[in-house]
Amino acid sequence: MNRDININKIATEKEWDLIVIGGGASGLGVAIDACSRNLKVLLIEEFDFGKGTSSRSTKLVHGGVRYLKNGELSLVIEALKERGIMLNNAPHLVRNMSFIIPTYDWWDTPFYGIGLKVYDLMAGKLGLGPSQFLSKKETIEKIPNVNQDELNGGIIYHDGQFDDARMAISLAHTIEENGGTVINYLKWDSFIYEKNMVSGIKVTDQITQSSFEVKAKIVVNATGVFAEKIMRADEPKVKLKIKPSQGVHLVLDKSFLKSENAIMVPNTSDGRVLFAVPWHDVVVVGTTDTEVNTISIEPKASEQEIDFILSNAEKYMTRKPKRSDVKSVFTGLRPLISKENKSSKSLSRKHTIYKSQRGVYHLLGGKWTTYRKMGKDVLDLVESTESLPIEPSKTENLKIFGYKRDTSWSDSFHFYGSEKDVVMSMGSNKPLSDLLPITESQIIYAIRFEMALSIEDVLSRRTRCLLIDAKESISIAQEVARIMSSELNAEENWEEEQIQLFLALAKNYHL
Ligand SMILES: Cc1cc2nc3c(=O)[nH]c(=O)nc-3n(C[C@H](O)[C@H](O)[C@H](O)COP(=O)(O)OP(=O)(O)OC[C@H]3O[C@@H](n4cnc5c(N)ncnc54)[C@H](O)[C@@H]3O)c2cc1C
Repeated sequence: MNRDININKIATEKEWDLIVIGGGASGLGVAIDACSRNLKVLLIEEFDFGKGTSSRSTKLVHGGVRYLKNGELSLVIEALKERGIMLNNAPHLVRNMSFIIPTYDWWDTPFYGIGLKVYDLMAGKLGLGPSQFLSKKETIEKIPNVNQDELNGGIIYHDGQFDDARMAISLAHTIEENGGTVINYLKWDSFIYEKNMVSGIKVTDQITQSSFEVKAKIVVNATGVFAEKIMRADEPKVKLKIKPSQGVHLVLDKSFLKSENAIMVPNTSDGRVLFAVPWHDVVVVGTTDTEVNTISIEPKASEQEIDFILSNAEKYMTRKPKRSDVKSVFTGLRPLISKENKSSKSLSRKHTIYKSQRGVYHLLGGKWTTYRKMGKDVLDLVESTESLPIEPSKTENLKIFGYKRDTSWSDSFHFYGSEKDVVMSMGSNKPLSDLLPITESQIIYAIRFEMALSIEDVLSRRTRCLLIDAKESISIAQEVARIMSSELNAEENWEEEQIQLFLALAKNYHL
């Protein structure tokens, strides 16, 4: 992926078949499906790929056990199918993970156990393994740090886990492999209409500040929590609304869990679920579901949300996490579609597609796990309503860039899959820090092949350092800037500017 080449393509391409606005899970899903159907596709992203919610998820590829409780059977069945497809097509990025629900009431074990048997059945052939009841002894063996006071036993079940930002980058690569064009730091400004039908968009390059027009037969707005604003620019009186709901995660040292299994808490003090999941040698604990009025690309965790996670997590852990144990805090906004008088935790995670009167397709809602289906649904609608020659979707069997089976998840380069050797050949493979998995070779690869332009791109989404340990990321920022500026041949003050920008951002990731 090369940004300069792609920006030049815009200048020469007279008209695209399809433009996607938004480089998160939704937009990438649309672009990849459109490419698989042989359309000429451009995807633009205002910031970096995955910079929005799509790098801030709980990192689960799941049917969503808790949606069973809401009676959303069709959503669970759809997501379980997508879970299987995602695991098949990206085994270097998605893995089968065991989740344990520790039970403290005798009734909980059969209650949750039966629900999980239904979950297994719904997955059918794409199941990742049967759920099982665990005795108290077995539960402790599997999670040595589980709170043992009045522990009754547990249930183990299977779901998927992935690296969301790495998936986003790999999807961007896959789009390019399949003939599409992706550009980060290119912002949608407005729509262009001819005869009152959309015929393109105006954009601004966030790096050079130059603005230009891009023509297309089809335009898709897939901008997550930002989608309503863009939809209103197209159709001011539209009835659909996004109700953003904030979710916070805390990152702890792996010694708090001491297990390869995750804990799932089925009923927190506010009636939600909470996960403690091993990820990149740390434990991610979350999340919250807080309705918010402000939509920001960098949402901030509130004190209540932090306290809520710590107080609910400590009920299940022998070693009680304190604020000072938190290595990183990251926060995302769910793009939920609003229904009157419903709290955000009961709002559906199902997606909706709206084709406006002036022909713009707006994709709203959804979840990471169903990104492919969301994209396919948009293109199926395009196929049924436009007079474009469109082939059937091929994404069900489309391997994601770097596809490789049997990668070892203890290898910090595993998410590159088949590209690992290329990455390693870029420079030194000695980690820059004892606490973080990042090397000079990864930084150079990120710049040359993954369109990384800033320290943040490298530390937050090409590697996950900022989410793993925010303070340690700050301490290596200078070295990262040095390697980057030499590779980019940057001007004298670039390093200092970049460090200041990164420090301002990173202070929101530690307590
Ligand atoms: C706390 C939390 C935990 C979650 N956990 C899970 C999970 O474990 N599993 C799961 O399946 N799902 C999960 N989800 C849901 C999932 O993460 C989201 O549904 C998904 O990431 C949303 O993707 P998106 O592309 O719609 O939005 P985003 O990722 O926000 O992408 C939208 C993009 O549009 C860009 N954009 C905005 N305006 C413009 C413009 N003018 N021009 C160009 N680009 C623009 C933004 O910069 C942004 O990158 C979670 C969500 C949250 C909040």
